[in-house]
Amino acid sequence: MKKGLLIVISGASGTGKGTVCKELLARESGIAYSVSATSRAPRAGEEEGREYYFRTREEFEQMIADGAFLEYADVYGNYYGTPLAPIEKRRAAGEDILLEIDTQGALNVMERCPDGTFIFLLPPSLEELHRRIMGRGTESEESLARRLAAARDEILLGKRYRYAVLNDAVEAATERIQTILAAERMRADMDPAQFEI
Ligand code: ADP
Ligand code: 5GP
Repeated sequence: MKKGLLIVISGASGTGKGTVCKELLARESGIAYSVSATSRAPRAGEEEGREYYFRTREEFEQMIADGAFLEYADVYGNYYGTPLAPIEKRRAAGEDILLEIDTQGALNVMERCPDGTFIFLLPPSLEELHRRIMGRGTESEESLARRLAAARDEILLGKRYRYAVLNDAVEAATERIQTILAAERMRADMDPAQFEI
């Protein structure tokens, strides 16, 4: 059976990961989105089980103890984690799965799953990143300051990824990711059976 891709999209907060992933999922119907758990409070319009599984810090810590996560990280003061079970199940069934996670989480997944497709999304500039995250209007002053302060160091971690994609415009960035995925689906290691002819 051909193994599904583990697609990891990462980048500094406000780069446009959520926006680009949404566009990608609309264009590629075969990709499942990995819903993370988090201890942060829901934003207006967010739904339990759609954007995130919202958990208390205590519940989250119990999930860590139970080994429920592929990776988890403390991001800007809250826990975020990728549930392990659905990923293994979907990939084994040949289904591609998309993780939208922070840089610490992505670096941990690189260790555990080196066959993943690691994509770093870049903003056109630090100024534009600031404009985008402030324009989104979802953060408290403290959360905004933390995210902006972390941005430059986070972007430097992009060097460790296989792919770097510029998010200058949503459509163009999504097309670049689709080009990467088209090539990744032809990777020899994804389907060893094809050589047994
Ligand atoms: P992230 O998930 O990386 O934190 P979001 O997807 O929430 O980022 O995007 C942050 C803000 O930037 C949103 O208001 C979004 O509409 C906007 N945005 C995303 N991509 C672009 C783009 N290519 N050009 C202009 N604005 C963008
Ligand atoms: P937000 O609070 O803006 O939804 O997300 C904050 C950051 O946490 C983003 O960079 C987002 O990609 C990241 N994130 C979301 N889910 C996970 C996860 O499961 N693991 C890790 N490590 N980071 C995550």
